[in-house]
Amino acid sequence: MFGICPNCGKYSEDKEVTPDGAFLICPFCNYRQKFLRMPLLVITGASGTGKSSAYKELLYSDKKPNAIMLEGDLLWRKGFADAEGGIPEYRNVWLLVCSHISQNKLPVALFLSISPGEFEKCPNRKYFSEIHYLALVCRNEELKDRLYKRELWRFPEERDRQIQIHLDWNQSFLNDFYKKQYSVDVLDNSDIPVQDTILKISGWINSKIKR
Ligand SMILES: [Zn+2]
Repeated sequence: MFGICPNCGKYSEDKEVTPDGAFLICPFCNYRQKFLRMPLLVITGASGTGKSSAYKELLYSDKKPNAIMLEGDLLWRKGFADAEGGIPEYRNVWLLVCSHISQNKLPVALFLSISPGEFEKCPNRKYFSEIHYLALVCRNEELKDRLYKRELWRFPEERDRQIQIHLDWNQSFLNDFYKKQYSVDVLDNSDIPVQDTILKISGWINSKIKR
């Protein structure tokens, strides 16, 4: 939809967005194509911090926010992991999909494990006004317990190393590492039930949309 110019019919993935976010400009004929630049909401966090559970609970609850919720694994295919540059491409594809969905005048809330800063490197970042992150975190001892209780590790011999990566990442959110540069809020759910977590996530999404 964004690629083909309605005026000259040429295809380009390299259209600029006007500063007001209301148009895409064709690089061939300068035609201004109507566009809606919306914010993107990202619910991130290490494995074991409850993103998937919260997503599933919130999706079928009456506490849903005013956004389209999507789970970040949805578009994942093995080819992204195998190809060189596949993971940045995966992120870029997500931005394209979310920007198309946002044309319905509803922002997207994406539940995806991603470090703040990765989307910002993608070409399709330009389709969004702001990207706000909510990181689900819990105390590292609690997270360690949860991760060691998981039985299905894809590579059991790498379990300890993988768990340490997630603990370090969780700690970086607890230390507000990303907050210096990006719009990041942190939700510690160490001691709160999932029903409270989803209320807080929903409230956070709605608060970011209102701005
Ligand atoms: Zn054109």
